[in-house]
Amino acid sequence: MTGSIQLNDIVVDVTLKKIKNIHLSVYPNGKVKVSAPLRMNEETIRLFLISKLGWIKQKQTKFQNQQRETPRDYIDRESHYVWGQRYLLKVIEHDAPPKMILGHSEMVLQVRPRTSHEQRNTIIESWYREQLKLALPPLIEKWQLIMGVVVKKFFVQKMKTRWGSCNYTRSNVRFNSELAKKPPECLEYVVVHELVHLLEPSHNARFHSLMTQFMPHWKLIKAELNRLPI
Ligand SMILES: [Zn+2]
Repeated sequence: MTGSIQLNDIVVDVTLKKIKNIHLSVYPNGKVKVSAPLRMNEETIRLFLISKLGWIKQKQTKFQNQQRETPRDYIDRESHYVWGQRYLLKVIEHDAPPKMILGHSEMVLQVRPRTSHEQRNTIIESWYREQLKLALPPLIEKWQLIMGVVVKKFFVQKMKTRWGSCNYTRSNVRFNSELAKKPPECLEYVVVHELVHLLEPSHNARFHSLMTQFMPHWKLIKAELNRLPI
């Protein structure tokens, strides 16, 4: 069941589902969606949304201020970023399995002739995922020891709205593959953030003081990450 609720100038899409808790999301395009349990009535949902109005506005402003990365064409001399450094793409067509080679300032993408734009995109994205999968284990290990937590499993995937997430009950952490484009300290900050969630699931005062204890300058890195295009 779907509908919408209007709150001042914000229209919220409402979906009633077989779920236990109400869930609110703000998307990069500014859209607001709420999923609520089937039995919840409109008035309760409206009151919930009113209580979250400040948070919704804050998220929308954040997305508005954050630049969106321009879509890539995967052609020669196009800029691509790896760990915060800029590389110029060079595409070579060769009838062999595709590969990526990172030079000093050049990123060479070798593809089979007539490889489509989507296929080039898939090859590059899986390469970024691999870079992150290689960079994460030593960082997770380091911070597990410092914090005395255990990560059971980590995942890497492309996410549109967040840099990472943590499943406190399962001790799983998830990282956005786009982090491989950002400076390395950004990745370390996200690792620390998600691992602190294993000690404190919510973003409360305790969470912030743990962040400061482990990474005193975390606010600076967070600001930098929010400034960089996603
Ligand atoms: Zn968090």
